[in-house]
Amino acid sequence: MTAPHLNLIAGQWVGADHSTENRNPSDPTDLIGLYASGGAEDVARASAAAASAQAAWFNGGPQVRADVLDRIAAAIDARAVEIGTMLAREEGKILPEAIAETRRAAQIFRFYAGEAVRISGEALASVRPNVDVEILREPLGVVGLITPWNFPIAIPAWKIAPALAYGNAVVFKPADLTPGTAHLLAQIIHQAGCPAGVFNLVMGSGAQVGAALVSDPLISGISFTGSVPTGRGIARAAAETMKKVQLEMGGKNPMVVLDDADLPTAVAACLNGAFFSTGQRCTASSRLIVQAGIHDAFVAELSRQMQALRVGPALAEGSQIGPVASAAQLDSNLRYVALAKDEGCDVIGGQALGGVGYFQAPALFIGADNAMRVAQEEIFGPCAAVIKVDDFDQALAVANDSPFGLSAGICTTSLRHARAFKRGVKAGMVMVNLPTAGVDYHVPFGGTKGSSYGSREQGRHAAEFYTTVKTSYSFAG
Ligand code: NAD
Repeated sequence: MTAPHLNLIAGQWVGADHSTENRNPSDPTDLIGLYASGGAEDVARASAAAASAQAAWFNGGPQVRADVLDRIAAAIDARAVEIGTMLAREEGKILPEAIAETRRAAQIFRFYAGEAVRISGEALASVRPNVDVEILREPLGVVGLITPWNFPIAIPAWKIAPALAYGNAVVFKPADLTPGTAHLLAQIIHQAGCPAGVFNLVMGSGAQVGAALVSDPLISGISFTGSVPTGRGIARAAAETMKKVQLEMGGKNPMVVLDDADLPTAVAACLNGAFFSTGQRCTASSRLIVQAGIHDAFVAELSRQMQALRVGPALAEGSQIGPVASAAQLDSNLRYVALAKDEGCDVIGGQALGGVGYFQAPALFIGADNAMRVAQEEIFGPCAAVIKVDDFDQALAVANDSPFGLSAGICTTSLRHARAFKRGVKAGMVMVNLPTAGVDYHVPFGGTKGSSYGSREQGRHAAEFYTTVKTSYSFAG
C-alpha cells in the first residue's frame, strides 16, 4: 500500500489522521492512490498560516503575484498530459476533454497574471471643496475555496487564480472524489514559488473540512461550487461569522429548438450540450424544448446520433463518453430513468451498460412535460428531457419555468427570435446556435435564481468577490 498524498499547510506537506482511497470510475479495481483526509484542526492551522502570510503577499506588489501566476500557467501547460491523464482516470472524463480542461486552467492562470497588474480604483472630486476621494480595491484577506468533482482543475483554477491575483491567501478544499488533480495543482503552485501559507490545500470531506472552513473566524469569504443543498447550508452557516459568499450551484438548462433552426446545427448543439462529459456539467442541456414542426425530425436524428456515441473507459482511445463519476451518481441517474418511465415519458437509452466501470447509455426522455420531476430536478447525468411546444412564446415560458437559471440556449435562424430569447430568458448565460455548455474564460460565468448566489466568477468580474473597496478622503488644506 502506497503512502497517502499529503495536505499542504504553511508551506509543508503534512499528513492527516485519516486518508481516503481514490478509485477510477472506469475501473474501480484501479486504486489511484491514498489521499489525506483532514479535519477541523488542519483547517485551523491552514487558515492561521494564510492569515499571517496574506499581508506580505499583497504588499509585495502585483508584479510578484503576476510572475507566480505565470509560472503556474507554464507548469500546468508543460504537464498537461500528465494532469489530464490523472483527471480522466479519477473523474471519468475522456482524455481529450481532460487535457483540454487542463489547458483551460493554464489559460485562466495566465489571464489572472495579467489582471494582477490591472487592479484599478477610482478617483473622484469630493462634494466638499479641497477634498479628494479615492476608491481603492483591496483583497478580502483569507478565502476558503470549495469545489466539486466535475471540473477538477478548471473550477479550482478559476477560484485560486483570481484569489491570488488580487492579493488574497487561500485555503483550498477540493472534492473528495477528485483529490489527485487537486494535489498535482497544489504541487505546481508550491513549486512556482507561492510563499508558504499563501496557498494551502486541505483535502477531506465536506462535513469535516468544508464545514470547518465555513465556520473559521479567520476566513473572510467562501467561494463554493457544488449542489444546491450544500450551497444553501453554506450560506446559512457563513452568516454566523458574517462571511462574504459566492455560490455556483446546479442547473436544469433549457435548449430551445425552433422550427426554423438549422437541423444539423441544433442536433450537434444538443448532442454536445446534453451528453458530452457524461452530462456531468452544471451547464448541460437537460431540457430540450422543441417546436412541433421540427420535433419528429429532430428527435429521430438526435436519438440516432446519441445511440451511436461510444461509451467507454475514459483513457481508451475512441471513447466519446466516459463513465459516470461514482456508483452513487450512477444509482441516482438510473432512478431518474425509471422515474421518467413512471412519469409517462418514452425513454430511449439510459440503461447501465454493465462491465466493471460505472457506464451508462445516454438517454432521451421523449414526451416530457415541464412539470414532471425529470424536467424540474437536476439529474447531473447523460439524460435529457424532450418537451414539445407550439411556438416561440410557449418555448420561452417553458424555458423560464424552472427553479434554476444558469445557462440557456436557442437554435434558430430568426434574428427576431434570437434577440427576444436573449432578452427574455432568465439565465446568467445565453447561447444562440451553440451548446448551453462551453464558455470562455475571460467573461463572467454564473446564473440567476437557484443556480447562483453572490457575484459572478471569471473574467474581470471576479474582482467583485475577491476584493472589497475602501473609500479614502483627503483634505489638501
Ligand atoms: P456537492 O455539493 O456534493 O459538493 C461540492 C463541494 O462541497 C465538495 O467539495 C464537497 O466536499 C463540499 N461539501 C459538501 N458538504 C459540505 C458542507 N456541509 N460544508 C462545506 N462544504 C461541503 O457537489 P458535487 O456533487 O461535488 O458536484 C455536483 C454539483 O455541482 C451539481 O449540482 C452541479 O450542478 C454543481 N456544479 C455547479 C457549477 C456551477 O458553476 N454552477 C459547476 C460545476 C458543478
